[in-house]
Amino acid sequence: MDLQHHVLVVPCPAQGHVTPLIKIAYNLAYHGIKVTFANSEFIEAKILAAMSDSDKKQCPLRLVSYSDGLDSHPEERNGPGLMDSLKKVMPDNIEKLIKQINHSDKEPITCVIADLSVGWTLEVASKMGLKQVAVWTAGTGCLALSLHIPELIETGVIDENGSAVGNELICLSEELPLLKSSELTWSSPGNPTAQKFVLDLCLDVKQVAKNASIVLCNTCYELDSFSCAIIPNILPIGPLPAIKNLNPSSGTFSSHDLTCLIWLDKQPSNSVIYVAFGSTTVFSQKQFNEVALGLELSGHSFLWVVRPNIVNGSFPEYPIDFLERTAGRGKIVEWAPQEEILAHTSISCFFSHCGWNSTMEGLTHGVPFLCWPYMWDQFYNKNYIRDMWKVGLSLEHDEDGMISRHEIKTKIDNLLTNHGIKTNALKLMEDAKKSVTEGGSSYENFESLIKYLKA
Ligand code: UDP
Repeated sequence: MDLQHHVLVVPCPAQGHVTPLIKIAYNLAYHGIKVTFANSEFIEAKILAAMSDSDKKQCPLRLVSYSDGLDSHPEERNGPGLMDSLKKVMPDNIEKLIKQINHSDKEPITCVIADLSVGWTLEVASKMGLKQVAVWTAGTGCLALSLHIPELIETGVIDENGSAVGNELICLSEELPLLKSSELTWSSPGNPTAQKFVLDLCLDVKQVAKNASIVLCNTCYELDSFSCAIIPNILPIGPLPAIKNLNPSSGTFSSHDLTCLIWLDKQPSNSVIYVAFGSTTVFSQKQFNEVALGLELSGHSFLWVVRPNIVNGSFPEYPIDFLERTAGRGKIVEWAPQEEILAHTSISCFFSHCGWNSTMEGLTHGVPFLCWPYMWDQFYNKNYIRDMWKVGLSLEHDEDGMISRHEIKTKIDNLLTNHGIKTNALKLMEDAKKSVTEGGSSYENFESLIKYLKA
């Protein structure tokens, strides 16, 4: 262990942010750097509860925590109140944490690696004279879009409130996929307060990203050269994990149900649709029923992650006799070991909400996507998957704003018989793998990060 270099890694307290930062932290630890990983107290408790004793023993990171300021309003943790509170309390709490560590530890913190979504952490590092590295965990298109907000306003594409001025498709660069106005990260038609809230978050991100000397992204030049070209200071090090021996269960907020791997082992090769919509997506009960009936109608086997809060925060009800009718060919779990599933030969495609981690995980394993974006960067990610990489299809809403069971069945049929998409997915998988093996661009970028941290 190289004791002179001690990095504090700070994610935004959400699953899709903790996962990639913990992978980066593990990679640093395997390169001999001492790493302390800071979660909010609330999130740390979840992570520890989901870790097995052997995970805890093998964990090469030191876990520490800070208060998110919401102990007296825990219900705010699922809404905009979380970011408001973090913005208020995190700078002081992180500064105190660093001082405490430096007081008690032989090796003081030399660098802070922080999520751009909690960019104020990097300002604390700057104030304390520490090295700083920013990390962007969402889609690169979304970061490029945030960086271009002033230009989009100046050229009259959007107004000061982030609303598109016309109906034309939005183009950031000729090579990048086009965006509909409703697909802007902050777009929230009919809810100006929500739109302003997300637009302001994007503007905060833009400000910190512009000033950062390094912005790590979970992507690689081989897959994403056009976004990389328009994001200054980007250092693509993905797809994560870029190193062997990573313990994939560390950092998960809920325990993985491993029975699905045993079930998958019994299924024929290339026969199971994997259905998972990330950690926050919610449906109405009516829409949930359509998904269930669409999967049934498809006639294929499926492995479906149904979180206990997936229907407007509550446990869903299945259509009458659905579970009996699909028994044997449908496996449902509350939380799955997603990366192991995507690597499994029985998986035929990934029915996904297109969160960036899921996108990178699917690409890494050459799995075609059925895209159903829900919010934020997921719409632009879907355009990358469908239009730029051509490794998936997307679903269309009907006139009532629903995705019907028939639409789901039709698109599954189309996806599974589209050989071009499968060929593209396998080609990109190879490109992604090359990038993180010795000599590849992400591999080399990670090496240069290590040099920077050790300098
Ligand atoms: N994930 C998981 N088990 C599940 C569903 C998701 O471990 O059953 C992981 C997935 O591998 C990914 C993360 O949760 O790393 C979700 O991140 P993503 O950016 O895709 O979506 P978000 O949850 O942020 O919407």
